[in-house]
Amino acid sequence: MTDVRQRTSPLEWEYAPAPEARDIVKFQERYGLFIGGELVEPRSKEWFPTISPATEEQLAEVALAGAEDVDAAVGAARNAFENGWSTLRPAERAKYLYRIARLLQERSRELAVAESLNGGKPIKESRDVDVPLAAAHFFYYAGWADKLEYAFPNRRPAPLGVAGQIIPWNFPLLMLAWKIAPALAAGNTVVLKPAETTPLTALIFADVCRQAELPAGVVNIITGDGSTGAHLVRHRGLDKIAFTGSTEVGKAIQRELAGTGTRLTLELGGKAANIVFDDCALDQAIEGIVNGIYFNQGHVCCAGSRLLVQEPIAELLIAKLKRRLETLRLGDPLDKNTDIGAINSRAQLERIRELVASGEEEGAEIYQPPCVLPEKGYWFAPTVFTNVAQSYRIAQEEIFGPVLSVLTFRTPDEAIEKANNTAYGLSAGVWTEKGSRILCMAQRLRAGVVWANTFNRFDPASPFGGYKESGFGREGGRHGLEPYLRFEE
Ligand code: ADP
Repeated sequence: MTDVRQRTSPLEWEYAPAPEARDIVKFQERYGLFIGGELVEPRSKEWFPTISPATEEQLAEVALAGAEDVDAAVGAARNAFENGWSTLRPAERAKYLYRIARLLQERSRELAVAESLNGGKPIKESRDVDVPLAAAHFFYYAGWADKLEYAFPNRRPAPLGVAGQIIPWNFPLLMLAWKIAPALAAGNTVVLKPAETTPLTALIFADVCRQAELPAGVVNIITGDGSTGAHLVRHRGLDKIAFTGSTEVGKAIQRELAGTGTRLTLELGGKAANIVFDDCALDQAIEGIVNGIYFNQGHVCCAGSRLLVQEPIAELLIAKLKRRLETLRLGDPLDKNTDIGAINSRAQLERIRELVASGEEEGAEIYQPPCVLPEKGYWFAPTVFTNVAQSYRIAQEEIFGPVLSVLTFRTPDEAIEKANNTAYGLSAGVWTEKGSRILCMAQRLRAGVVWANTFNRFDPASPFGGYKESGFGREGGRHGLEPYLRFEE
């Protein structure tokens, strides 16, 4: 075994600041609602500020849509569905999706900077992950638009109509793409509500729709908070609701829609197990663990928030992991060297603090590397808990922050039992050299996605979604079209 302490401390090296220029983005002072192809004043006459969580500076003001605004947006979407979009030749629909994909690529730097400013995530993530994957989703679903009968042979697919789509704040543009691309490819029109803390890339996307000359009303974007989302869910003019967010709100939506006939898909929380066997490539696994939980400050529903380590390597792995944490750079999201950006909101920071305090109270051992938190904005140091019992809240509840809980196991059976001991079932990771073990674990893990010797990998062709309280329905791939189609007998 190598002694990890013998190498030079990485803290002796400093990085010079490398900020991305922010002048590529010019936010308007105020944004209305994108309804019927135009930004319009809200009938509610209400507005709210949207800020940068890294500095608390106001970036713009956005409209808070009320019930009448929701009604107008659904009306515009219905009109667009009935008067053109649903009967447009599928190959023509595909052209619009391709155009949107190309425009997202063309405007990628602007979108990446806007995403990092409004959401707090490091620019290297928005630049290299969020925006390219959002464009890839549109490219991918553009390809399906005129091939639906091949995707579902002998089933005569037809669009549902108007879809209401509610998305969270952790991947604002990417979640928008996951929702809008398959819906449009299948011939539906949409009303999308971004999360209250991250509306700005959705509003830039509205401009992308205008540039792509997408027919008015095919995409409508209404900003607002949970009350706007609730109005959308209650509107009876929709054929489908697609929701990504907390399990609590997902359950409320399911109750609201019970018996209405409105189709529903839910992508909710997670508490993924990242399972590391003693035969794995250890340094590679350390990178996967770090990527699994500290990527996007842990604001990831499929984050590997429970690390299950096989006992013989636990001590060495934890020592190496702590040392790796010392090298993570926390700070300005626009700095190209930043690994950990700002927490998305004050409310989320408080939730993280509360759960971390419960971990300490219940008896887990906390470790945070030395790191200076900026004075303004919302920040939380990367955190590892050891000595965690399965019953602790930090092992059961979704923290949605940069906090890892470490548990150990001896046998594969014990790993499976612990991994599945959760109300959730969204994702899991397995690190081992043995292919047969990977296949065996993947079969027994109750998780929608199982990554092997990697973590947090996404591809538009690969379906994503959960079991149990992580929700139902799949997004991505051919499966992702199905929730937006009905099948004529
Ligand atoms: P979080 O707790 O992480 O903010 P939420 O589930 O509250 O996650 O938010 C996800 C999305 O759901 C956001 O767009 C939010 O505005 C919306 N939302 C919140 N409450 C409701 C509700 N009661 N009905 C519909 N949408 C809601």
